[in-house]
Amino acid sequence: MQGLTLLGATGSVGASTLDVVARHPDRYRVFAVTAHRAADDLLALCRRHAPRYAVLSGLPEDQGLRRRFAEAGNGTELLFGAAALDEVSAEREYDVLVAAIVGAAGLAPTLAGARAGKRLLLANKESLVMAGALFMRAVREHGATLLPIDSEHNAVFQCLPQVAGKASTIAVRRILLTASGGPFRSAPIERLSQVTPEQACAHPNWVMGRKISVDSATMMNKGLEVIEAHWLFDVPPERIEVLVHSQSVVHSLVEFVDGSVIAQLSNPDMRVPIAHALGFPERIESGAAPLDLAALGQLSFERPDAQRFPCLELAYAALREGGTAPAVLNAANEVAVGAFLEGKLPYTAIPQVIERALRQTPSMQADSLATVLDADRSARRAAADCAAMLMGKAA
Ligand code: NAD
Ligand code: MG
Repeated sequence: MQGLTLLGATGSVGASTLDVVARHPDRYRVFAVTAHRAADDLLALCRRHAPRYAVLSGLPEDQGLRRRFAEAGNGTELLFGAAALDEVSAEREYDVLVAAIVGAAGLAPTLAGARAGKRLLLANKESLVMAGALFMRAVREHGATLLPIDSEHNAVFQCLPQVAGKASTIAVRRILLTASGGPFRSAPIERLSQVTPEQACAHPNWVMGRKISVDSATMMNKGLEVIEAHWLFDVPPERIEVLVHSQSVVHSLVEFVDGSVIAQLSNPDMRVPIAHALGFPERIESGAAPLDLAALGQLSFERPDAQRFPCLELAYAALREGGTAPAVLNAANEVAVGAFLEGKLPYTAIPQVIERALRQTPSMQADSLATVLDADRSARRAAADCAAMLMGKAA
């Protein structure tokens, strides 16, 4: 029986994870669940799974809520504030940490899980983007096991041979990450400045949180995933390529030196990579519908259009620059996407804000969590100033 701590339990990845977990009550029990402010959603999870701890990281202490959680969760202890995320991640009495908080807020608690030597199921790609070197070092030094559940990276992991208990990239020529192209893959480019948050969040193949949905539309999600793949698999940027594949059935591919290409396919359903990582090296039921290739008929592939998706090149540039540049890219993207989702910033200004923030924030060595968080803060200020200026112009 394995105990699970779920960071971001009320989100889209959190819900998919709990769905898989509920299919295997003999294998998994829920030890801790966290949400930012969604108290009612978290309470419902406690009623169902009766975890030892629940955390509301974005709310102050509230005795009334504490009593309600204890009753609903059969003794669940409710904790408040961001520091409680690190505490439950570092707890000794559980086995698997599912890192499914969205954004930079996921870094510190996910790192705490790495330092506690846990089995880490990583959805929060922002942790690796911001602090890849630090994060991978913590995984190695504390004997943690890192299993990607981002669908592309899980696919790459499945395509690689296991050598001495690790996914090996010996004899790998290229990693090919697939991208759906999002809702604006074939929209006229001159109309992109008018698109609304609702249109950007209407992903053709996946139902996801709002931030990653916008990232999928701009392809910054793929840019973040190139950086994520670099750290996970220790492959340089020039050997990680992006391929637009609008059906989202081939989740990624690996090409070897002999010319063989291995891919992983499934219906676009996050329960597939989650079940893979939960069960690994065993296979367990995920609940996903079987893939019917004949009904699909065709799979298509094309190169990404650099003019339509400028965020992709910004991410490659930040990865090549190294140091804190990817943390700056990530922070500026979060600010720009936040402003877009609030209806304040036009969609096409998102890459402009990121580019200026990258130019204005000098890159440093990313050798400590403090340096990374400092770069994150400076980039947020630069991005907010730039967004305010662009909004002034648009008004
Ligand atoms: P979501 O918005 O649906 O859920 C986010 C979760 O994080 C919620 O539980 C929320 O309460 C919590 N949260 C939000 N802000 C927080 C903060 N400041 N501090 C602490 N907790 C906070 O997001 P999602 O779509 O489930 O994505 C989660 C992560 O997984 C992201 O990093 C995303 O890139 C990654 N991911 C998601 C998918 C997907 O299909 N949704 C696929 C691959 C990777
Ligand atoms: Mg992905």
